[in-house]
Amino acid sequence: MRHLLAASDLTAEQALAILDTAREMEAVQAREVKKLPTLRGRTIVNLFFEDSTRTRSSFEIAGKWLSADVVNVSGKGSSVSKGESLRDTALTVTAMGVDAIVVRHPASGAAHRLAGWVDCHVINAGDGTHEHPTQALLDAYTLRERLGSLAGRHVAIVGDIAHSRVARSDVTLLTALGARVTLVGPPTLLPAGVGSWPCATSWDFDRVLRGAVDGPVDAVMMLRIQRERMGGGYFPTEREYAAEYGLSPERLALLGETAPVLHPGPMNRGLEISSAAADSPRSAVLRQVRSGVAVRMAVLYQILGGAGAPEAGVEAAGQ
Ligand code: ASP
Repeated sequence: MRHLLAASDLTAEQALAILDTAREMEAVQAREVKKLPTLRGRTIVNLFFEDSTRTRSSFEIAGKWLSADVVNVSGKGSSVSKGESLRDTALTVTAMGVDAIVVRHPASGAAHRLAGWVDCHVINAGDGTHEHPTQALLDAYTLRERLGSLAGRHVAIVGDIAHSRVARSDVTLLTALGARVTLVGPPTLLPAGVGSWPCATSWDFDRVLRGAVDGPVDAVMMLRIQRERMGGGYFPTEREYAAEYGLSPERLALLGETAPVLHPGPMNRGLEISSAAADSPRSAVLRQVRSGVAVRMAVLYQILGGAGAPEAGVEAAGQ
């Protein structure tokens, strides 16, 4: 695999191989000395033009635990704020001899453009409203850990679907792995063309939670209202949005006892998710964060580890 730009870059077999490798990588997280030699001598640049807490730090930790050298470059504090273009910035970074760029950018398609300009590996860490493939992998990993397998499972993804790169990547990956997905949100927050996506849609969260749309729900993923991508007018008031689509304690009670609650973060507590749901034993939110490191280690390993000595690294992970 040369790049990871979209969830659709992965066949089901490749995705499962990453999830299996991630499970072995997770053993490293439990060790006192969290280092594998696998990517020694490799250099990874995290090139982030949008804010991030989880994704950037987990890519950085993942790279460091695999012994790569990791450099963070952000829009703020770099020559991007002096007007340098994405292409010039990327070429400048690669001229230093880096092996991979992990890129986040507010423009949909930016990661694809970048991959066409540079001769190193490119991993998409979120491009506009388009794709966030490693988030989909960590969501699949978390669901697999909680539910056993994704085959035949029904996942409801709820909220601001229109602006969510997570929803796009999740629908592609989760359905490729055999899950059924129902997207839930007000019509204004469902994207144009969603009818052609391989999933069901509904405007009625309560009906979905009662199992009236494509059967009982095995897991629910709440999405953040992305105010920074909105011009306003997508719903009347935040109070009404929370009443119709928020995961309240009452709605949590409609979910099956074992159904996990996911959220990619950052959460707007009291809007799309209540604190009762976010902090409940069914919440997998922090599990997702933990999964994120293991999954990103697996992705870096698959992309940069090469056919050379990967086994040694994975075996070391199991020690
Ligand atoms: N952290 C996720 C993303 O970067 C979700 C979000 O921002 O709401 O897409």
